[in-house]
Amino acid sequence: MEIKPILQQLTQARGPSGGESEAAKLVARLMTPLCQEVSIDAVGNVVGLKPGSGPEPRPKVMLMAHLDEIHLTVSAIDGAFLRFVENGYDPRTLVGAQVTVLGKKPLPGVIGDLPPHLMTAADRKRMPELEEMVIDLGMTAGQVAQLVQVGDQVVLDGPFQELLGDRVASKALDDRLLVTTMLAALDALQRVNHPCDVIAVASVQEEFSGLGARTATWGQRPDLAIALDVTFARQPGAPEEDTFPLGGGPAIAMGPNLHPRITQTLLDLAEKLEIPHQVDVQPSRTGTDAWGIQVTAGGAPTGLVSIPIRNMHTAVEVADLKDVTRTVRLLTAFLAQADAAFLDHLAYRLPDFQEAEK
Ligand SMILES: [Zn+2]
Repeated sequence: MEIKPILQQLTQARGPSGGESEAAKLVARLMTPLCQEVSIDAVGNVVGLKPGSGPEPRPKVMLMAHLDEIHLTVSAIDGAFLRFVENGYDPRTLVGAQVTVLGKKPLPGVIGDLPPHLMTAADRKRMPELEEMVIDLGMTAGQVAQLVQVGDQVVLDGPFQELLGDRVASKALDDRLLVTTMLAALDALQRVNHPCDVIAVASVQEEFSGLGARTATWGQRPDLAIALDVTFARQPGAPEEDTFPLGGGPAIAMGPNLHPRITQTLLDLAEKLEIPHQVDVQPSRTGTDAWGIQVTAGGAPTGLVSIPIRNMHTAVEVADLKDVTRTVRLLTAFLAQADAAFLDHLAYRLPDFQEAEK
């Protein structure tokens, strides 16, 4: 599967948390040739089933990457202009942004600011507060009143830019980069024997509530799951201990939110296959779908694999596509070895007391 064109299509699709249907339909269409069954569940998760080759009943391994992107919400209509609140955006990156307001129809708009000529010396030294910003649709107050209402969602626009080498910049690489990775892994599995059924889920509302991770896990009851998300890449000003080199390979998370044997198996496979990778120490709950998966129903043994991006939660997130192909190799190798015996090995069991008493 060609990564770049698929990623471009996916990042350009609109999918704010709670309004993912455009992105969901595209993912369902891309997943259909790669799976036996594809459906969209009650909350909007896209779920694909790729049956394994092992004897029935086959255990289920779930891959999950989130469909939604951060967004703005119209909070008031101020004549011809829209006031808004944000969910996940750094307000400093919004001045000069191009947006689409998802009103009665998609409406292009911009977030501007006063010309420097009209600012006071003090204003020029500070960033405007979110409350001072407005979206300008270029329409009259009357047109705005007809097409927009308070509560409408707004997504940032921006071109999909090919940077030098294998690097790209776009909005919504969080987490369409990993949705693309998941699709590429399903494609690779067409040529690789995998004993267990693979359930691929593009989940809704990760950025907001983790709704999709919880409901999909409850609905599917996987025997094992791997969440796929972005993490922080190194860039000027970022602390080294919290970031990973861009292009340094997938980050394999380790900590109580993850099952230690899944983490170790991923690390061992990366070593064995000489896949560049990084260890992502997560001492608490991860801010990803891995948490929702781990704590739903009876609890599922969970892993987390992330790809570093720069400028997370802006319209110019930057990724290295080499990290995508490496992650696909790692996931494919993991799924190829994940058989019933491996899953049995993950179970927590009481020690054999009778043996101990002898
Ligand atoms: Zn994410």
